[in-house]
Amino acid sequence: MAATLKPRPMPPSLWAATAIPAPPTPALDATLTADVAIVGAGYTGLSAALHLVERGVSVAVLDAGEPGWGASGRNGGQVIPGLKYDPDELERMFGPELGPRMAEFAGKSADLVFDLIDKHQIACDPVRTGWLQPAHSPTGKINADRRAAQWIKRGADVALLDRAQMADMLGSEHYCGGWIDRRAGNIQPLSFARGLAAAAIAQGVAVHGSTEAQTLRREDGKWRIEAPGGASVLAEHVLLATNGYTDSLWPGLEREVISTNSYQAATRPLPASIRAGILKGGQAASDTRRVLLYYRLDRDGRFIIGGRGTATDEPSPPLFEKLRQAARAIYPQLAEVEWGNHWSGRVCFTTDHLPHLVDLAPGLVAALGYQGRGVAMATNLGKLASAYIMGTPADALPLPVATKLTPFPCHFLRVPALYAATRWYRLMDMIN
Ligand SMILES: Cc1cc2nc3c(=O)[nH]c(=O)nc-3n(C[C@H](O)[C@H](O)[C@H](O)COP(=O)(O)OP(=O)(O)OC[C@H]3O[C@@H](n4cnc5c(N)ncnc54)[C@H](O)[C@@H]3O)c2cc1C
Repeated sequence: MAATLKPRPMPPSLWAATAIPAPPTPALDATLTADVAIVGAGYTGLSAALHLVERGVSVAVLDAGEPGWGASGRNGGQVIPGLKYDPDELERMFGPELGPRMAEFAGKSADLVFDLIDKHQIACDPVRTGWLQPAHSPTGKINADRRAAQWIKRGADVALLDRAQMADMLGSEHYCGGWIDRRAGNIQPLSFARGLAAAAIAQGVAVHGSTEAQTLRREDGKWRIEAPGGASVLAEHVLLATNGYTDSLWPGLEREVISTNSYQAATRPLPASIRAGILKGGQAASDTRRVLLYYRLDRDGRFIIGGRGTATDEPSPPLFEKLRQAARAIYPQLAEVEWGNHWSGRVCFTTDHLPHLVDLAPGLVAALGYQGRGVAMATNLGKLASAYIMGTPADALPLPVATKLTPFPCHFLRVPALYAATRWYRLMDMIN
């Protein structure tokens, strides 16, 4: 008899407090068959489900929480195209055939999010006026200029900003210039996840919340996923879409990624006089620090700021206080404002800093590793995973398909190692 599930209620956050209602996703309590079973109802799993069902495939999605319970319902809602590596680097790393295709795919990745929002009329407060990357230092400015120049060379709608232009757009003198990427935007992240789930359900996808996939095994050439209470799904194909919440369901996968927490804090709605002076064009921003700060306003004029946290899920009050201090350093006018929600969620890193489709076994694929920037990329990898499952050959995809990721050495030391690395990078950020 399978163990029972510890309930995973939606954790409190600004997004949980202001999202559209969740569609009904009852726990699985029977034996189901489907062409494809997906573990994880975040952007990866839900986008894959939608793209599969549109091709006439039967799909079951299981989540231990509910759609958007993971990072997809807790993130900063910044829809930013691109990968960790800039287009020139991608061409150097992956050669003249795959490199440009990867860069093009990365550059267009925000489009899919806004197209899905339009297509399924998802009420998630989409704003598409761009994303700012302010430079925290002269070195940061050089990097930002180089990045923008590479996209400009490829005809992307981006522009370099000098110190005065950046100060005007941010409403803060804190930075020394940077660039704007007008392909980007922002959304209410949990509403987007719930909207994707509702659209998938409307098209016949079976989405089951409160359903932890506890075991995964081969059975007569198919995959059997067992859930609590004896319920199960038998499927031809399985997609693991668990990113920062990857557990031991598939042995070894957990050790091929590192999860750490990102923290956010939000003010109460700002008085009109203060709100008018901050990010007046509606852009979101994330700066060039190695341990970056990211911030934006929501539709009601709350200021939301986020930053890197700890490798454990224990909430850390001093980290939230640090975020508020950082907000006041950028915007001194926030000194007296009241703060409301704060929350955190897990982001997922790979050793090569790239997201991956991983072909784990016949009929078993994982899609994960968004390096903390997955609103656009996870939605796209869900689509790519659906194409791969439907038979698109690996070499026709704009990302290499791996059969195994390089595991992190000494994974068991990740908590102290991440702590040390974060302190080192913060020091470097202070120096240049
Ligand atoms: C605080 C924070 C801020 C962020 N800000 C941004 C941002 O502004 N812009 C940006 O681009 N990216 C951002 N990100 C990253 C982005 O949110 C993620 O990359 C993206 O949401 C990953 O989506 P996913 O569907 O792959 O995973 P998730 O949304 O994390 O979903 C994984 C799901 O798998 C489920 N699961 C795991 N194991 C099992 C199991 N055994 N059985 C059943 N279910 C299981 C979990 O319950 C979870 O719901 C942020 C992340 C965090 C945490």
